[in-house]
Amino acid sequence: KLIKEETERRILFNKYQELKGNIRVMCRVRPMLGPGDGEGAKITFPDDKTWAEIAVQGAEEMSSLGKVTRKNFNFEFDRVFAPGAANQDVFDEISQLVQSALDGYNVCIFCYGQTGSGKTHTMSSRDGMIPRATHMIYETISKLKEKSWTYTMEGSFIEVYNEELHDLLSPHGRESAGSAAGAGQQAKKLEIRHDEARKQTTVTNCKTVELDSADKVEAMLEQASANRAVAATKSNERSSRSHSVFILKLVGHNKATGERCEGTLNLVDLAGSERLKQSGAEGERMKETQSINKSLACLGDVIEALGRGSGHVPYRNSKLTHLLQYSLGGNSKTLMFVMVSPLEVHLKETLTSLRFATKVHNTHIGTAKATKKVSA
Ligand code: ADP
Ligand code: MG
Repeated sequence: KLIKEETERRILFNKYQELKGNIRVMCRVRPMLGPGDGEGAKITFPDDKTWAEIAVQGAEEMSSLGKVTRKNFNFEFDRVFAPGAANQDVFDEISQLVQSALDGYNVCIFCYGQTGSGKTHTMSSRDGMIPRATHMIYETISKLKEKSWTYTMEGSFIEVYNEELHDLLSPHGRESAGSAAGAGQQAKKLEIRHDEARKQTTVTNCKTVELDSADKVEAMLEQASANRAVAATKSNERSSRSHSVFILKLVGHNKATGERCEGTLNLVDLAGSERLKQSGAEGERMKETQSINKSLACLGDVIEALGRGSGHVPYRNSKLTHLLQYSLGGNSKTLMFVMVSPLEVHLKETLTSLRFATKVHNTHIGTAKATKKVSA
């Protein structure tokens, strides 16, 4: 019976997706991390059949007259993961989307949320979406060999910090990221280059690694995390103040039919979404604050412009959206995870995140279905 219900839910879910255009929003609430974590907020999941709703109880809200009241709020997304959900459950829900990069789609998956809400755990930890996605892609590639398809898979890992790109896979990335070591060797700047005709993006001076084994993925994640940590010694909490973007390019070729197909999977761990105040911040910190606020706002603007079907989409207003231009809207598939902390002290940020995510959820990107990039 449970299996039947689950199947029905999935069919409904997929149908719904077809109707909705191609941006999806899922919410994940991280578990409490033990007694030291603080007081839990009242977050509940009203409908455990569809797992699509989340309710936040007793959140404080200020009226326009300045009066503070406590209210309950309900939100609905494509899927909601309660604290008991594991990374495996999350991956099960997105595996089809990941697979579609092999069919020639550009896919973009974001983790949005305040610092400490579980973005990095979901995306780049050892059992997060990055290793799971790459593993599943190998398996599929080896099955596709029987149908005469061969693929190359190349990964790069880029940090966007203060509106500059840094390579997380090369030691130079570290230097340009501000380490005191090796000052003699100046890293070359990373620049975004678009090929308008092929709708392809390349980043200059950025290392790409052939990811043809699980070991290579693990080594890559380790190097990226070490480079992030070194950069973080100069600027505290840097990893919550920068975006990290894992880009997997998949190029397939069918020897029997001559078909070629190119797809890209982008997995993005966004900077903490907490409202950063300009006051009190000076120098570097001020610059950081401005660029995070700016780039997250730009991402919202791009999604909004795509939803309106506007002719002008302001991709170029931030490095992140410029980098992801061909994977947002148009021919691509987008998913946003809104990550939520279970703590009472974070309720205000939680509400802000859920409201932002609701706006994104109500966006219909494009009227046409996403199209594959396949050429004979
Ligand atoms: P963020 O990247 O959003 O700042 P993290 O992913 O670093 O947040 O998560 C904050 C803390 O919570 C980390 O110690 C992480 O291991 C833990 N955590 C987050 N999500 C989960 C989860 N689903 N299960 C267990 N621990 C989690
Ligand atoms: Mg993080």
